[in-house]
Amino acid sequence: MRTALVMGAGGFIGSHLVKKLREEGMWVRAVDLKLPEHGVTYAHEFIVADLRKVETVEKTLNFRFDEVYQLAADMGGAGYINSGENDAEVMGNSILINVNVLKQAEKVGVKSIFFSSTACVYPEYNQMDPGSINTKEDSVYPAQPDTEYGWEKLFSERLYLAYNRNYGMKNKIARYHNVYGPYGTWQGGKEKAPAAICRKVAMATDEIEIWGDGNQHRSFLYIDEAIKATIDFYRQDKYFEPINIGSERNVSINELVDIVCNIAGKTLTKKHVPGPLGVHARTSHNELIKNVLGYAPDEDLEYGLTQTYKWIQGEINT
Ligand code: NAD
Repeated sequence: MRTALVMGAGGFIGSHLVKKLREEGMWVRAVDLKLPEHGVTYAHEFIVADLRKVETVEKTLNFRFDEVYQLAADMGGAGYINSGENDAEVMGNSILINVNVLKQAEKVGVKSIFFSSTACVYPEYNQMDPGSINTKEDSVYPAQPDTEYGWEKLFSERLYLAYNRNYGMKNKIARYHNVYGPYGTWQGGKEKAPAAICRKVAMATDEIEIWGDGNQHRSFLYIDEAIKATIDFYRQDKYFEPINIGSERNVSINELVDIVCNIAGKTLTKKHVPGPLGVHARTSHNELIKNVLGYAPDEDLEYGLTQTYKWIQGEINT
């Protein structure tokens, strides 16, 4: 039986990935600080432990797994990573995990790790205007991420690439762009825009609060497509530089609210309030992934938001 290790398996993307790998017939070990918040784990073995500790990494990555996915990170939505209040934790915690994982992987002879980077590595100066966004993979330098979260991911990307050069590894790095869907964090401060908006719409009767003027533009990728692209990219054997995994459909936060209101069958007044915003505009650039995989994620936003809204509404009602 082929084996997989998923780190960060208690999180949103990690828990979906575990399920998919298990469905494919792999034996899956999962590790995280916590079990998945919403629902069961599909892992054969789930280790609740802290990957900042060397002993945890030695215990969990203790043989040459066929596949290793490293998704563990201290992260959250704009309220968590853009406020500046969590910078030391976000950077320090995630870098410890990545250093530990790479050292141990090299020791046990793992050939390739999937590392989840982010669109937040792209320079702020290329994301000021919805009409001229540049998130082509090679536009990442000269570097100017707008958050310390982005700086840590950029440094860690370089660390994974350095292991490729110095130790002959074949690590694969994907830069996710706003992945969303059922079983994601939807309350508590670490939730991202689609989940926050679904929750606010589900709970509202006449008014919805939006951070800023709502003209911030983003693209959103449904979880099923993110998982497929993750596995396909990890298993290919010709491209070893960072690649975008995201959608090219660019919508404003105001438009996102309109779509969710439409799904919910509600008419709500938008109340714009101060809040952390992030860069003005960001969307995925998918030319490279099309060349490498032969396709790019291009899901139907309305379909994905409908699934997400229904799930969050169910959570609120339970
Ligand atoms: P998530 O927060 O749901 O999952 C991350 C998991 O890492 C959490 O379950 C957390 O408990 C775990 N973790 C954190 N510190 C740990 C530690 N010390 N030891 C063990 N586990 C630890 O986030 P997600 O949305 O599933 O994202 C997964 C990965 O993808 C992250 O690396 C994230 O930075 C990256 N990413 C996600 C998105 C997105 O839109 N969801 C976008 C860009 C990048």
